Formats: sequence, C-alpha cells, structure tokens
Amino acid sequence: MAMLKVSDLSVNYGVIQAVKGVNFEINEGEIVTLIGANGAGKSTIVKTISGLLKPKEGQIIYQGKDIVHQKAPQIVLDGISQVPEGRHIFSGLTVMENLQMGAFLQKNSSEAAKSYQEVFDRFPILAKRKNQDAATLSGGEQQMLAIGRALMAKPKLLLLDEPSMGLSPLFIQQIFTIIKELNEKGTTILLIEQNAKQALSIANRGYVLATGQVQLTGSGHELLANPEVQKVYFGG
Ligand code: ATP
Repeated sequence: MAMLKVSDLSVNYGVIQAVKGVNFEINEGEIVTLIGANGAGKSTIVKTISGLLKPKEGQIIYQGKDIVHQKAPQIVLDGISQVPEGRHIFSGLTVMENLQMGAFLQKNSSEAAKSYQEVFDRFPILAKRKNQDAATLSGGEQQMLAIGRALMAKPKLLLLDEPSMGLSPLFIQQIFTIIKELNEKGTTILLIEQNAKQALSIANRGYVLATGQVQLTGSGHELLANPEVQKVYFGG
C-alpha cells in the first residue's frame, strides 16, 4: 500500500481550476518529484496535502486514512511537514525561536530537546547562529532553517516546495545532498522543483505536471532520458 495516494484531486481558487483530476502516489522510503512550469499546480497540490487548502474533489489517503477533511495541525501530528516555497522564515525571531515554531505541537519537552539536537547535528551552521536573528542568515542558511523547522515535528513524509529557489549553485548542491541524506535516514520525500534535472537525478519517481494535470510519469532516470522532458525542461 502506498504511504500517500492522491486520487482525482481537483483544487480551485474561485473560478480558477488550479489542479484538475490529479493522481499520484508516494511509497514509503521514496523521493518523488513533481516537476512542471510556473503555474502548473505544484504548490497547490502541496498545500492541499498539508491541509492548508481544501479540494473541490478527490481523496488524499495517507497511511490508509483520508486526510482531506483533517485540519493542518492534525496532519502535522500524523507525520506530514511542509517546507513552504520562499522559506517563510520568521524574521525578528532568532534561529532557535524559528525552530521552536516547528515544535509547537510537541508537548514533551525532552522530545523537543532531542529534536533541537538532531537539527543542530544535521545543520551545524544553525547551532552556530542559534541566537542570531533569522533575517541575518544567507539564503542557503535560511533554507536549511526552513528544513530544520519542518524536521522539528519529526515528519515521516516531508513536503519540499522549491527548496533550491534563489540559491547559489553551491547551496543548490548542498540542498540536494541534504535531501538525499534525509531520505537515506528514513524520511519519505515529496519534492517540488523548477530545477527538473537535479530533482529527477535524486528522485525514485517523478510526475510531470502541466496546467493542473499529470502529463507524464516514470522513474527519475526514465524522465531524465525522455526527449519531451529534455526539450521542455532542460532547454534542448
Ligand atoms: P509556481 O512554481 O509558480 O509556484 P506551481 O506549479 O506551484 O507554480 P501553483 O502555485 O499551484 O503552481 O498555481 C496553479 C494555478 O493556480 C496558477 O494558475 C496560479 O496562478 C493559480 N493560483 C495559485 N495561487 C492562487 C491564489 N491564491 N489565488 C488565485 N489563483 C491562484
């Protein structure tokens, strides 16, 4: 059974049909990527899985249970965390306080303390800067903080919306390495990316979206080698 199965999902913003009958699934332990141009509906899908948007139609079955009608905090407690597009770091708060936001549902303080330690072990730069205003971090460090904040909730499934956006090539490389390592340590990953080549290189499977629909699916390697994908997403 898939860990997450999205069936016939349609999501509207008023009269705009952003997602039109999308089907895909994620098996435990996989990295699955959704690629597609701006406006294809990728972020809308992620926000709907997180419970921030409610679909017009469709099912989202997570670990055997339909979560479509569940509230966002419950979905986090069930093990799904999102790293939003654009990071949405709380400026004016320290690195530590930003991480605390990711643990707001954690009632057990010794568990929370363990989570901080795991995040600091994973991202030593965040430990170094823990008392600094998060706004003073570089873009790459802020992305690490956004990932660290999501990890504070100990997700089984991590939703990453455009984690490489706006980063320098060196940081992009680091972020993709981090994603692979998190996956190897047991976190299942849904990765949304404009950077299709890199995303497909680390993904087990991918889905190509266009105007709210799945156009193509296959293993990461199959999609990388697909002439249509190469033409549209790799520029030739
Ligand atoms: P991007 O990479 O630009 O975020 P995307 O594939 O994630 O693209 P979405 O952000 O999901 O795409 O947008 C899908 C469609 O829904 C687009 O036509 C977009 O203009 C529209 N849309 C997104 N958010 C809203 C909103 N809050 N109100 C109205 N329309 C929206």
